[in-house]
Amino acid sequence: MQRRELLRKGLLSATGIAASSLFGCSSLISASKQEGKTAWGYIGKQGPEYWGSLSDEFNICQAGNSQSPVNLQATVDADLTPLEINYKDSPLRIINNGHTIQVNYQPGSFLTLDGERYELLQFHFHHPSEHKVEGEALPMELHLVHKGKKGLAVIGVFLKEGKSNPNLQKVWKEMPNRKSSEKTISNVNISASDLLPEDKDYYRYFGSLTTPPCSETVHWIVLKEPVEISTQQVNKFSQVFPMNARPVQLVKRRFLLE
Ligand SMILES: [Zn+2]
Repeated sequence: MQRRELLRKGLLSATGIAASSLFGCSSLISASKQEGKTAWGYIGKQGPEYWGSLSDEFNICQAGNSQSPVNLQATVDADLTPLEINYKDSPLRIINNGHTIQVNYQPGSFLTLDGERYELLQFHFHHPSEHKVEGEALPMELHLVHKGKKGLAVIGVFLKEGKSNPNLQKVWKEMPNRKSSEKTISNVNISASDLLPEDKDYYRYFGSLTTPPCSETVHWIVLKEPVEISTQQVNKFSQVFPMNARPVQLVKRRFLLE
């Protein structure tokens, strides 16, 4: 009862925070210049608890009020509109950027959110999952990153162990073991829609990039239904990236819609 009360009060101020962050996102451009310069990682003195002090540009990683990922718990039921996704196939362009395996997407695929168009730029993976549900992590999480006039929109998809995933296998087959430049596999097409679960029910909240510079410009959409991936597929990724997940951050005055 009391928690509900607090959440309701939080709702009013959370809306205010989200609105002001939306228009304060010009830092993303200046931050991206710095991105390649400061080394960061997931363990030791370059790990997540130090990100905020590694560079001035990363300050928001520790000082922010809307950081991601979060534990999806105490969510509020809301009348969320069905996802409007328009994805086309793209030639497979893959890179190991030292932090994850990333697939850069051909322009022309997009998500419509609150009437705005968000262009699909790339998707990449985390092991284990970054978001948690009721305190539990899943083996992996896929992030589809879209860019619009009002910041970024990222769709998170949980990957759980089960059947081998033939769509992911196209990416896994070309996975570079070490940090690499982008390579194009010209005779392989990939479809981002094939990586989504059938049920598109989702959580929604306002947050940040989960990697430095941790810019608070992200409309997060985390799909509830996980997609299956085999144990062997998880193992192959974890041999390249044993741990590339930022710990969950405080929800603070935000509120998590379901
Ligand atoms: Zn990510």
